[in-house]
Order: sequence, then C-alpha cells, then structure tokens
Amino acid sequence: MKSPEFDNSYARLPERFFKRVTPEAAPDPHLLKLNHGLAKQLGLSGEWLGSEAGIAMLSGQSMPDGADPIAMVYAGHQFGGWSPQLGDGRAALVGEVLGPDGVRWDIQLKGSGRTPFSRSGDGESALGPVLREYIVSEAMAAYGVPTTRALAACTTGRDVVRETRLPGAVLTRVAQSHVRIGTFQYFYARSDAEALRALSDYVIARHFPQAASATVPYAVLLESVVRAQAQLVAKWLGLGFIHGVMNTDNMQIVGETIDYGPCAFMDVFDANRVFSSIDRSGRYAWAQQPEMAFWNLKQLAQSLSLIIDADEIRSADLAQQALACFSPAFQTEMDAVFGAKFGFELEETAEGDDINSFLQTTFSMMALQHIDFTLFFRRLTQLAGGEDEDMFLNLFDDLYVAQDWLKLWRENTAQISGQISKQALAGMQKTNPIYIPRNHRVAQVIEAALQDDFAPFHRLVDVLNTPYTHQPEHADLELPPSEDEIVSQTFCGT
Ligand code: AMP
Ligand code: MG
Repeated sequence: MKSPEFDNSYARLPERFFKRVTPEAAPDPHLLKLNHGLAKQLGLSGEWLGSEAGIAMLSGQSMPDGADPIAMVYAGHQFGGWSPQLGDGRAALVGEVLGPDGVRWDIQLKGSGRTPFSRSGDGESALGPVLREYIVSEAMAAYGVPTTRALAACTTGRDVVRETRLPGAVLTRVAQSHVRIGTFQYFYARSDAEALRALSDYVIARHFPQAASATVPYAVLLESVVRAQAQLVAKWLGLGFIHGVMNTDNMQIVGETIDYGPCAFMDVFDANRVFSSIDRSGRYAWAQQPEMAFWNLKQLAQSLSLIIDADEIRSADLAQQALACFSPAFQTEMDAVFGAKFGFELEETAEGDDINSFLQTTFSMMALQHIDFTLFFRRLTQLAGGEDEDMFLNLFDDLYVAQDWLKLWRENTAQISGQISKQALAGMQKTNPIYIPRNHRVAQVIEAALQDDFAPFHRLVDVLNTPYTHQPEHADLELPPSEDEIVSQTFCGT
C-alpha cells in the first residue's frame, strides 16, 4: 500500500503559469466512491486511496509527500465574450502521476476551496454537481469518448451555500492534461510569445510528440488539436450529447471532453436542443457544436499565429491551413460514427459518398416524429438483429412515415439476402448504447443522495459502466422520462 509518486512537470514551468495553493482542509471527509478500475489504470493503490491518508488527499484535507498543488491560470471566451483573467477558481492540481503504460495523468481536486483565481466564487462544489460529473464523465469513458475521468467523489463535511445550504463535495478529476485553448489565449492576450512557446513546447512534448520533429512544429500542434476536437464533437453528436458550455476555457487541448457542468443527453430529438439555463441564445445547441468548436479553434489559431513563424503572413497562412483540416476530419468521423450506428458497411460510406443527405432526412424526420434519440438507435439495432419490428415502428407518431423511413434505411444498408451483415450488426451493438445518463435519472440520483441514499447513484454508475450490455434487471434505466419526470433545464451548479 503506497501513496502516489508525483512528478509535477507543470509546476516546473515558469511561475506565471500557475499559483501554488493549499486545498482547504475538509472538516469531516467521507469517501462516497472510488474508481478502482481507473486507479489500477493509473498504477495507484486502491487500498491506499481508500485509507485515511488517501481520503485526506481526495477530500483536500491534507496532501501526501510529493504533491505540489497548483491552480493553473487561463483566460477564455465565455459565450463569445472575452474574459482576460480566469484560472482554476475551485480546483487544485495535486500533481501528476505516470501510469504503468508511461502515460502522464493530472490528478486534480475540484471543489477544494478558494484559489487566487476564485474571483467572487467560493471555490466549493456542491454534492449534486460532483455526482453528476462522476456519472456522466464515466459514462462517456464507457462509450469510448475521450474525456476527463472521475477517480473519486468525497463529501467534505462543509456546507456550501447556493440557493440553499448543500453538502460540499470534492471530485477527483483525472485528465491527460488540464491545458485549455484559454491557456494559450491568456498568454496571447499579454503578447507573451515566450510563454506561448514554453506552453506549446510543453504540450508538444507531453501530448503531440510527433509535432516536435516537424518543419513547423507549432502549425502541426494546431493541426493536431483541430483534428482531435473535430473528432470529439462528431462523437458527441453520435450520442445526442450537448456539452452546454463550450467556452474556450472549457475546451481541452488533447481533445478530451472537460467540464461537465450543464451538459445533457437529449431524450426527444431536436437539433436545436439546449439544456443549459444560461445558454439563452442557443449558442451551444446540439447541432451548433461543430461550428462552435471551430470558432474556438480559430481563437487557438490566432494565439498560435504569434509564434508559428517569424513572418506574420506565413504564420497566418499556416494557421489557416491547419484550420482547414477541421471540416474533412469532422466529416470523416461523422461518417464513421453514424455509419456504424445505422449499420452501413464502411466501404459504402467512404470516399465522397458520405451519408450527409441520409442523415439530414433522418434528423428532420426524427424531430417531426418526436422520437427519442437513444431509443431510436437501440430499437433499430434490435430490429437489425431480427427482433420484432413493431417495437421500432411504435416510436413514430405516424406509421406510414415509419415504414417509408425503414424502406430508405434498408436501401442504404448493405443487405445480404435480406439481412444485415454480422459485422455491421456488431458495429451497431457497439455504438448504440442501451443506457445513457438521462437527465431525469441523474436528477433522481442527486435527490436521493441529498436524503443520504446513495444506492441509486451506485446503481446508475454500475449500469453505465457497460452501457452496451443488456441488463434486464435495470430495464427502467433504458426508458425516457414520463411526462412528469422530464427535466428540461440543467445548471452549472457553481
Ligand atoms: P466554468 O463555467 O465551470 O467553466 O467556470 C468558469 C470559471 O469560473 C473558471 O475559472 C472556474 O474556476 C470559475 N468558477 C466556477 N465556479 C466557481 C466557484 N464556485 N468558485 C470559484 N471559482 C469558480
Ligand atoms: Mg471550466
């Protein structure tokens, strides 16, 4: 049983990149959940993490040897408006660990008290948002979507004041990095080319080592981030996921989904769906996400133009070229994601024969028919596997529309003597989840937890751990909300 061995490379960067912080001591910490699978992947001792010293670290009560907690500085565009000074206002990067596979991981506490970047905030997290982030980020990992992870959730024994008094909690977030687009913007806004170079070299060495040997490394860095984010957003769309707060400070440089505030998975399909209470203009609606990711990447391109090349025009040119990779990378990933979801053979969707028009027809139809996004693909998968067609047809308001669409789908599907290929069916089963963290379930879990009943939380996390495996005893978790269960808005919880 041994405590983590930290190697804090970010803390070795220049002092203007961060502030050293001391997490606020939790008066009465309790471990709610420890992610043993993730601990193992990181090479951390689950036994130590669950010990008194482990819980002291996970709750921010006291730091083990080798930890060097820092709050990272960044800036960002929030809903399109420029905020020159942000930073970890309620998080502390405890340190980095090297996994058995040599991958470096950040171990960060979220909700561990005020930092020099807290502005008017209290630095705290309430229990609800911590459970929410645990559930959703771990579900995303189970779907194979790049994401920050949840190593643990603890209560602190310290109440936080929101609209009411709520139990305070800390989430231990694990990420390949906490560098964001906003980190680059922070230094660009200060014309600090030296810092931009140091940051870029750091990111290249840690995450994109292939860029180091390129003729123009910073252009290759930009292109790598562009591709990673294009792919990420296509994966979100494939799950009906709406991030909700795609500000540049919430777009991580490696392309992992970060910041699970007001995110949501939609139930009934609507391309313009928004859940976040603060997204009044629909800036980050489901279908807007590719465009917004691109908008964010333009801000990164602008920041990097300062250092890509000494010649300003050449720099801008190379940045444009890197940005131009977004659209094809996004399209290729969309084809792969939705091709698999619909059971289309890959050859069919490759090279110039993308499935855009089929998707557009299908999405318009789904919206008009008020169809649940996840159930639509789940039942289609069942139908493809030879189960009863009626289950699928029943999802539609209009049976004729259903039959017409099914005909269209069949025409588009590689059929071998009237049957979908085994390979295509397997693809559907691997990409169309049976279980998603539906809003109403997450809300119910939080409500129960506030009454000290954590069983629904543990059940939901367990079921979502294998979201493509049918678990008949949890049939209720497959279902969309009933009329009175619908949760139509989500909140940042800050
Ligand atoms: P978010 O909307 O969660 O991405 O947060 C935006 C900024 O506000 C980040 O710099 C956060 O660190 C900061 N922030 C959010 N909530 C709090 C809080 N309760 N206390 C201090 N800072 C916060
Ligand atoms: Mg954030």
